[in-house]
Amino acid sequence: MLNVVIFGAPGSGKGTQSELIINKYGLFHISTGDVLRAEMKNGTELGKTAEGYISKGQLVPDELIIDMLAKVLDSNEETKKGVIFDGFPRTIPQAKALKKMLADRVTEVSAVVGLEVEEPELIDRLLKRGQVSGRSDDNLETIKSRLEVYHNQTTPLKDYYIEEKKYNAIHGMGSVEEIFARIEKTIDNL
Ligand code: AMP
Repeated sequence: MLNVVIFGAPGSGKGTQSELIINKYGLFHISTGDVLRAEMKNGTELGKTAEGYISKGQLVPDELIIDMLAKVLDSNEETKKGVIFDGFPRTIPQAKALKKMLADRVTEVSAVVGLEVEEPELIDRLLKRGQVSGRSDDNLETIKSRLEVYHNQTTPLKDYYIEEKKYNAIHGMGSVEEIFARIEKTIDNL
């Protein structure tokens, strides 16, 4: 069973590449950002709480995210065929919780695909996406907070997964097809 974590800064192409990975490898897609946006749209308690963090570009607290992820895993049979985790984990406690949740389900993270993109390109992509996404967090001020949060809270995960011998750096610049070809090579070599 293949469980892939797609890792990278906001704007690094996680969502775009996840779609291509799903098409080729038939994995179940869990994007914690998408799940939170659906909760917001449905006006749930979690959605209301998450909104305050998301609009400021901050991370939603670990306990809420870990609980939400466990529910998605438990309520979707298709997760048993393998999952692509997109936007999760974003902190060390989340990574440790994921390890435990998967171990409890007699599986593990097969590989982390780390999309590496330079910061000016990230800002450029997110501003462009903001023109069409309608996302309240794709504006310059929130983008800057999201990148700062990424550097402070999420980049330590790279070393965590290097230590676990799971991290695969992918050069995330170039065309969508070029980047996907690099990812395919990594996954096919697992
Ligand atoms: P994304 O769609 O992955 O860019 O996520 C959008 C926003 O949702 C982030 O800026 C966070 O506020 C929140 N979020 C998504 N995933 C997580 C997570 N794993 N941990 C904490 N907050 C998250």
